[in-house]
Order: sequence, then C-alpha cells, then structure tokens
Amino acid sequence: MNFDLVAALYLLAAALFVFGLKRLASPRTAPRGNQLGALGMLVAVGATLFLVDYRFDGRFWVAWSPGNLVGIGLAIALGAGVGAVLARRVQMTAMPQLVAVFNGFGGLASALVALGDVAHVTPQGATLAGVGAGGVIVGGLTFTGSVIAYGKLQGTAWAPSRPVTFPFQKAANAGLLALAVLCVVLYAGDPTAGGWLVLALAVSLALGVLAVLPIGGADMPVVIALLNSYSGVAASAAGFAIQNEILVVAGALVGASGLILTAIMCKAMNRSLANVLFSAFGTGDTGAPQAATGPGRSVRNYTAEDAAILLTNARSVIVVPGYGLAVAQAQHSLRELGDILQARGVTVRYAIHPVAGRMPGHMNVLLAEANVPYDQLLDLDQANPHFESADVALIVGANDVVNPAARHDTTSPIYGMPILDADKARNVIMLKRSLGSGFAGVENELFFLDRTMMLFGDARQTVQKLVAEAKALA
Ligand code: NDP
Repeated sequence: MNFDLVAALYLLAAALFVFGLKRLASPRTAPRGNQLGALGMLVAVGATLFLVDYRFDGRFWVAWSPGNLVGIGLAIALGAGVGAVLARRVQMTAMPQLVAVFNGFGGLASALVALGDVAHVTPQGATLAGVGAGGVIVGGLTFTGSVIAYGKLQGTAWAPSRPVTFPFQKAANAGLLALAVLCVVLYAGDPTAGGWLVLALAVSLALGVLAVLPIGGADMPVVIALLNSYSGVAASAAGFAIQNEILVVAGALVGASGLILTAIMCKAMNRSLANVLFSAFGTGDTGAPQAATGPGRSVRNYTAEDAAILLTNARSVIVVPGYGLAVAQAQHSLRELGDILQARGVTVRYAIHPVAGRMPGHMNVLLAEANVPYDQLLDLDQANPHFESADVALIVGANDVVNPAARHDTTSPIYGMPILDADKARNVIMLKRSLGSGFAGVENELFFLDRTMMLFGDARQTVQKLVAEAKALA
C-alpha cells in the first residue's frame, strides 16, 4: 500500500462521516447514519495503521516494529472493549454522562497527540507549533471540564450539582485563559522551549475545572454539547500539528456539529450561551413538591378510569412526552396505550419539544426504543398547529415545555422559550407525581386550567392503569 491509497481511504472515511451526519438529521435514517459514521471511523483507523513506522528502506517495505504493533493492538482492544461495554450497559437516563466521558477522553487524546508530536518532531514552524499548542490547551480543558460535567450529572460529592462559586471567579478564569494563550504564543515563538507547552497544559487542566464548577448540574447537557465541540477543535488542531488530514476533517465536523447543537439547545431554551455558562442557573432536578395551590386556584384530580373514557372517545390525541417519561421508563406502556387507542380509530401523534428531557433527542430515543412509528412523531413547529383541533393533549412527565407562562409572563425564567401549545387542546390530561416544578423550577399554569385533569402518580404505573382501563372499555 502506498500513501495515495491511504489518502483515498481517508477521503472515503470523510465522505462516510458527512453522509452519516446527514442521516442523523431524521429519526428514521439516524441508525443508518450512526452505522456509516462508525464504518468511516473503522476505515480511518485502518488506513492510519499503514502510516505507522512504515517506510521503504531502499529495497523493501519495512513492516511495523513489533513493539508498535503490540502497543497499537492493545490500545484498540482496550478502547473498543471499554467503549462497547459502557455503551451496552449505560441506562438511557445516564447517556449524557457517557457522552461527557467520551468527550473528555477525546480531548485528552488530542492534547496528548499534539504534545507527543512536539516531543518527536521539533523544531516545527511557528504556525504549526502554535496550532498544535492550541490543541493542547483546548484538549486539556475539555478533559477536565468533561470530568467535572460527568461528576455533576452523576451527583458525586467531588463535583456537586449546585453551582460552586467563589469570589473573583470570572476574573480568575479570564486570567488563566490569558496565561494559557500567552504560553502558546511564547511556545510558537520558540518551538524548542517545550516548558511553555507543559505550563499551557497545566493551566488549561485547571481552567477546565474552574470553568465548569460554577455551572448548575441541570445545564450540563448544554455544557457537554459545547465541550463536544471543543474536543473536535482540539482534534483538528492535533491533526494540523501531525499533518493528518482525516483528523483535521473529523475534528472540524465534530467542532461544527457540536457548536450547532449548542446553539439549537440555547435557542430552544431561549437562553444565551453566556447565560448558560455564567449565570449559575439550574441547580439540579426538581426538589420537594411545591404547595402550588392558592386562593382562587384549584386543580382537578381525576382517576385513570375518567381519563381512559376521555381518551377512548377522542378523535385526536397528541401525546407530549417529557423528562418524567424517561425517569419512569414509561415508553413501552405508552406505545401500548397508543396502539389500543389507534385500534379504536383515535388519531395518535407525539409532539417532541427540542429540549424535552435532559439531552438532545432524549424523547426520540425513548420512543424509538418502544418502536413508536416515526410518522407519528411531530416536532414543535409541526405539532403546534394541531393542538387547537386535538381532543386531548396527554402530557406524560413533561412540565416546562408546556408551561404557557413562557408566552406571556415576562418575569418567568422560561419567558420566551418556545413551548408546545398543549393548553390549546380541548382537554389536557397531565401525568406526574405531584404539583412539583420541572427543571426551571417554576410553577406550571397548566395545572390550574379548567380543562386540565391531573393524574398523580409514577408515569409508568399511571399509563399501565390507563392501558388496563382502555382495554376494559373495548
Ligand atoms: P421538566 O424538567 O420541566 O419536568 C419534568 C417533570 O417530570 C417534573 O415536573 C416531574 O414532576 C415529572 N416527573 C419526574 N419523574 C416522574 C415520574 N416517575 N413519573 C411521572 N412524572 C415524573 O421536563 P420537560 O421535559 O418538560 O422539560 C425539560 C427541561 O429541561 C426544560 O426546562 C429544558 O430547558 C431543560 N433542559 C433540557 C435539556 C435537553 O437537552 N433536553 C438540557 C438541559 C436542560 P413530579 O416531580 O411532580 O413528578
């Protein structure tokens, strides 16, 4: 094999990444997109093996040294083994933690690649040295930032979910960033002075910890999307440093898609990135249920039998899933309920808010797991025009994404966030355990509407009761 073939394989891998990403845009094509991306990575890794210590000694192609081969084999076996076990074992609700771990190691790997290159191939030109050193700092802060993000999501003692703040935090972080950039500039000026690079790495590791600690645990999914983007930038920079095209391309794709995802999440929550990163908003999941009733306000507490009668007599039902669906793991029972209603001639559709749950695509994944047909899924823009003509909006563990206060209450933290117009349906059935708030910690006006029926209890148990009642009515 010669280097042209490696370049051709890299081109193939890059094309597979791009086509894979394109297919991730729709739930129907996403599994195939994932497979294409994985295949692209296999091609890229396979092609790279032919670059390792493979040179012409004048008469023969010299094969890899045995030491390298063993090292590479061990690294692949270890990485693939750990990745496969983690991916199979992880609970759906812990997926953001897994992504945090993957990002963190991606950042660390890029930092080490760039650092290792510096150790071997000096002196380089100032530009390449600067780009490689930039990769080291971005990779370093991605690693420690992701470790803290993981800890916060997991609710560990060493990285508490609440925002951890201290005096002059922003100034200290800005100072560290400036110091890291100064080290990169000094290193680029003299690529033989590796000490600057080591200092830049140490500073960036500290910066990753201090930048993520003040952010509330509930904002971690946005932070993780951003760190994902950083890990791509670090990989791209490492790619430039070692002049490896596929690392540049793959890193750029990850960097750009992570940034787009971050922007989509911020827009769907109607918050700026600065607000997510610096406002210490969201301290975790809902705490003790609030006493939400007050003078002149009451909620209507109904039974599963009442709700089942309403559902089975409806012509059109729009299901709104939310974080509580994931907690209760009610997706399979929900699918069963949908099937029963459809068998009775009810039109059943599922309205998916872009930030329902706790990670992008959370609801799509849960519903896909329960084999809910893709053509029944509507995104926010598709769903909203249908609520007015729907007989029932069945809200399963969703709260913030259907809170009408987002439309008119300028004092509400969710004011301006686009919501699903479930309150416009003729009847609203809400499944949750209490009158407690959701992620944003605000009371939901929907509880108190005359046409809202509250069905208190764990969502899975409640949906199972609805299934039993609906079957009995058949
Ligand atoms: P919410 O967090 O607003 O509400 C979820 C509700 O589920 C709670 O009010 C809770 O009420 C209920 N619940 C919890 N467990 C159960 C259970 N076992 N059975 C029944 N109900 C249960 O969820 P939404 O999906 O409506 O909104 C998502 C929120 O998360 C938005 O504010 C969004 O901005 C934010 N967010 C989303 C991200 C994403 O990527 N998707 C990332 C970061 C933040 P109760 O305790 O009474 O049962």
